[in-house]
Amino acid sequence: MYAFTFEAPSTVAAAAALAQAGGKLLAGGQSLLPSMKLRLSAPEQVVDLNQIQGLSGIRREGNSFVIGAMTRHMDVAAHAELQAAIPALADLAAHIGDRQVRARGTLGGSVANNDPAACYPSALLALGATVITDRREIVADDFFLGMYTTALEDGEIITAVRFPIPRRAIYLKFKQAASRFSLVGVFLAQTEGGVRVAITGAASAVFRHAGLEAALNQSFTPAAAAAVKIDADELNSDIHASAAYRANLISVQTQRAVAQLLA
Ligand SMILES: Cc1cc2nc3c(=O)[nH]c(=O)nc-3n(C[C@H](O)[C@H](O)[C@H](O)COP(=O)(O)OP(=O)(O)OC[C@H]3O[C@@H](n4cnc5c(N)ncnc54)[C@H](O)[C@@H]3O)c2cc1C
Repeated sequence: MYAFTFEAPSTVAAAAALAQAGGKLLAGGQSLLPSMKLRLSAPEQVVDLNQIQGLSGIRREGNSFVIGAMTRHMDVAAHAELQAAIPALADLAAHIGDRQVRARGTLGGSVANNDPAACYPSALLALGATVITDRREIVADDFFLGMYTTALEDGEIITAVRFPIPRRAIYLKFKQAASRFSLVGVFLAQTEGGVRVAITGAASAVFRHAGLEAALNQSFTPAAAAAVKIDADELNSDIHASAAYRANLISVQTQRAVAQLLA
């Protein structure tokens, strides 16, 4: 590590002012601190969000759940009302990383970070969630722009995410065994607006698969998913898996997801 100053403001407005002046927001630190240790990130000032009241918690609002940005993964996983209404979301949180990551890591940090293999971004896209910031609301389809890139402006702070309750949903993660991030994760939701399929881990950023969505809107069967050709051209190839392997996983995981929802 290297020298930096540390601020722990007690309001979102104070944190936003520091962040706009160049401070780096700190939530659970489960992505930021490793990247600082590796010197991939070298902020001169760290702005801790942990002292701000009101940024964490889970509440039902009509047909949606609003989850505060500082809500830890373990609290999302353990919330009984959420488990009943959107079990796929609670289950996703329950399988992020390890116990320490789940105890410290937050929804807002994961969403802001937009790691290509992170789990939450796929849930936001598939469920048609809305990111709420200190300035505005951004629908998930407009939020995730590319690798580690989002629609957030400099100093903009996520305060919560609103998740509409789907008819049914499931998240199937094929884990990279060492990190437990997704080698390929498929979040499949049957929503009021139709079937939405979001893929994480496979490409430079999370994305919806238009071909799978069209096929499953026509016929919600594993066979319909299997008939969709998954193009490997834009997918990642690395030491863990080739693009062709990831393409096959997208197909197989989607077929399994449909089968499990129908069971
Ligand atoms: C060993 C390990 C395994 C992991 N496995 C998984 C996994 O399986 N699946 C998965 O999805 N993730 C995994 N993660 C990542 C984990 O979920 C992190 O908690 C998450 O990516 C970042 O959340 P955080 O609260 O720790 O954010 P931080 O690390 O504190 O911050 C991350 C970034 O978001 C910004 N930020 C934080 N909060 C806000 C906010 N409210 N508004 C705007 N910007 C903000 C920060 O400035 C920083 O740029 C793993 C991490 C580790 C270390």
